[in-house]
Formats: sequence, C-alpha cells, structure tokens
Amino acid sequence: MERLQLHVCVVGAGLGGLAAAIGITRAGHKVTLLEQAPQLGEVGAGIQIPPNTTKILASWGILPAIEKVSVRPNNVVMRSYRDGQILSSQPLIPLCEDVYGYPYLHIHRADYHKILVEEATRLGVDIRLDSCVTGVDFERPAVHIKNRPDRPFECDLVIGADGLKSACREALLGRPDPPYLTGDLAYRITVPAEAMLAHPLLADLVAVPNINMWLGPDSHVVCYLLKGGNLYNIVIASPDNLPEFVSQQKADLEEMHALFEDWDPKLRALLDLCKGTAKWRLQNSREMRTWSHPSGRFTLLGDACHATLPYLAQGAAQAVEDAAVLASLFEKIQHKYQLADLLTMYEAVRKPRASHVVKKSSETGQTIYHLHDGPRQKERDRQLLAGQENPY
Ligand code: FAD
Repeated sequence: MERLQLHVCVVGAGLGGLAAAIGITRAGHKVTLLEQAPQLGEVGAGIQIPPNTTKILASWGILPAIEKVSVRPNNVVMRSYRDGQILSSQPLIPLCEDVYGYPYLHIHRADYHKILVEEATRLGVDIRLDSCVTGVDFERPAVHIKNRPDRPFECDLVIGADGLKSACREALLGRPDPPYLTGDLAYRITVPAEAMLAHPLLADLVAVPNINMWLGPDSHVVCYLLKGGNLYNIVIASPDNLPEFVSQQKADLEEMHALFEDWDPKLRALLDLCKGTAKWRLQNSREMRTWSHPSGRFTLLGDACHATLPYLAQGAAQAVEDAAVLASLFEKIQHKYQLADLLTMYEAVRKPRASHVVKKSSETGQTIYHLHDGPRQKERDRQLLAGQENPY
C-alpha cells in the first residue's frame, strides 16, 4: 500500500515550529512553514536545553551539531542572595546521562535556531518568510496571509506555532486572548568570560561550567557559560515594573543595580561588568479547554498554547516535546480521516504534561526562588542544605 503523504502547514518558525516541521517531515509528510518575519532568527542570548529535549534531538540525528556549539554544565549551584552562601550544588554530570541517558546543554539561541533551520531546509521543508497569518479557515483547512488576502493557503492540517501572542490561538477561541502578566520580568545580559577571568571575585564562576543561581526576595538570578565558554549569560527575574502594554524595553542600568544593593558582592561585581541590558515582561498563556478545532484539521503547539515562566527552563523543551509527539503520531497515520483521532491523542498526551509544567514553573518562583527573609526562606535553605529541595 502506498504511504499516505499529508501536507501540513506550520505557522511560525520559532524553535517549536521548526521542531514540528523537522519531526513531521521525517515522518514522511510535506511541510510548509509560514513565518511572519522577513528574516529568520531568534532574540535573546542563552537557552538551556534539558535532557528531555536532547533525547529528541538525538533521535532526529541533530544532537552532534547542537553539542558542537553548546556548553555542558557540571553542576547547578544555588546561592543565598545575601552573602552568596552555597545552599545546594546538584551535579548534572553524570546525573543527566545516568538518569535520563542524555546531556543537559547550554547554547546561544541563534545557534540553536540556525541548526534547526539548516536541518529543516536539508529535509525539504518549504520555509516562506514574510508570511504573516491573519486568520484560519478551520474546515477547509486554510490560512489567510497578510498582503495575499485573495489567496488563502490550503493544506491538510494547520499547526499554530506562532508563540505567546498567537493569532492562531485567538482564531481558535474566536476572541482576543492576550497573555496574562505573571508579575515578573526578565533582564537578559551577556558579559565576556575573559573580563570575569581577570576579576578576583568572578574568576571561579567561569573556571567551571556551572549553572550559578542566586535566590533572593522577589528576584533570582541564573547564569551560565555559552559559546565555547567565551560568553557568560545572565538572566535576572524580578518584579515587573514595565509600563502597561509594553512587552520589552531597554533597561536603565542604575535601576537594575539598585535592585541588588543588599545582595552578594560577587553578584554585584558581576553586574558591574554589564554594559547594557533590556527587560522583557514574563507572560503566561491561560490554560485552554482544548488546543484543537473539532474539524480535526487544526491544532496549536508551544508558547501559542502553553507559554510558561522560564523558571524550570522548560518552555522551548515543552514545544519540542509537542513536536516529537506529533511526529510519532504522523509516522502511524494511514488515512486522512484519522487526523481528528491523531489530534485527540496529541492533546491527551501533551496537554496534561505541558499544563503541569506551567503550574510548577509558577510555583517554583513563589515557593522556592523568591522567598522573603523569614521562616519559609529559612526552611527552604535548611532543605537545600540537606539536599532535599532542588527543582532541578
Ligand atoms: P516563539 O519562539 O515565540 O516562535 C513563534 C514564531 O512565530 C516566531 O518566529 C514569530 O515571528 C512567528 N509568528 C508569530 N505570529 C505569526 C503569524 N501571525 N504568522 C506567522 N508567523 C508568526 N525555554 C527552555 O526550554 N529553556 C530555557 O532555558 C528557557 N529560557 C527562557 C528564558 C527567558 C527569559 C524566556 C522569556 C523564555 C525562556 N524559555 C526557555 C522559553 C522559550 O524561549 C519559549 O518557550 C520558546 O522560545 C517558545 O517557542 P515557540 O516556537 O513556541 O514560540
């Protein structure tokens, strides 16, 4: 019997959309990827790739390319904000390989994205830039593209992977559904590792490729090496003070330094090396009743349906898991009429897990990372020191 080949349209060439395009093409189907931007790329600097993702990337044969441009962290080291006391040091090597069989990695987002674009291109994914999707016809199915109103793009299935402010999600809901504010924002900073090596307080942070964290009231800081150990990536989560309706803004360094006046001198010395930064509002999507349309011809993936706080480093990881589950279901499909069942299975597998990650990421902020001085913080520190409480 001839194998069924479906034509899938993926909306959005972020990490999630590219992963879906790779997985579904590998399963023998044709994929067109529509991206609104005129050029491909990723904003931000570092991203952590946990073992649930490296396992999938390995199964697609792209882990070696990823590893070539990644840094492999030895430990997650958590410090108290006040004096830098080490509260916990959890080994990632060999723990990740021993427990999960795959490594934990750090990579520059641009490198990660480029490798996925190269793989998608090599597999024959049709990537169309400057293609902003403005609406979906769920029954046909077809998507409407800005600037081409009289030519809806038809296919067998549409996957909306268009991120936090997803037009596909709003089309499915039939109403505006902006992401909600979590109350936190993120500063993203990079510092040359060389400048740290020359600094008496900072050299030890870059001597070993650890994930270094400081936990303090309302805020926490996560740092790690990138680019063969040449760049130090710093992410600060702190209370959101961005003006209404602004998602991202150049940040004032004085204001940022003021947040850390009472913190560990090591961290303050690190932030003194920062030459400029921007702050990003951290927003979540509301949990949806369903990700798919009853026609069985449309679903969502990644931040479009389960945007999360980054406190467990699982946002993109969950998008790649969505892609892997879709890909494995696409390997088995034999008839077009099975698409509705395929989407039912996709959601049954993915929605509870992704929702759990969104909930746990928020809880991790509230119950572990951002505790004020007092009995709960003392108990957290006691548990971390005893090796009982480490979300990693
Ligand atoms: P996006 O990356 O948002 O991609 C959506 C794509 O769709 C974009 O290319 C966009 O241009 C395109 N698009 C949008 N609208 C349209 C349209 N109408 N038509 C066509 N195209 C459209 N995750 C991790 O796994 N590990 C981490 O360490 C980590 N750290 C993070 C740190 C911070 C500070 C933040 C904010 C997030 C972090 N995340 C992390 C989360 C991760 O960045 C996201 O979950 C992930 O990038 C989502 O991928 P996506 O493909 O679903 O969406």
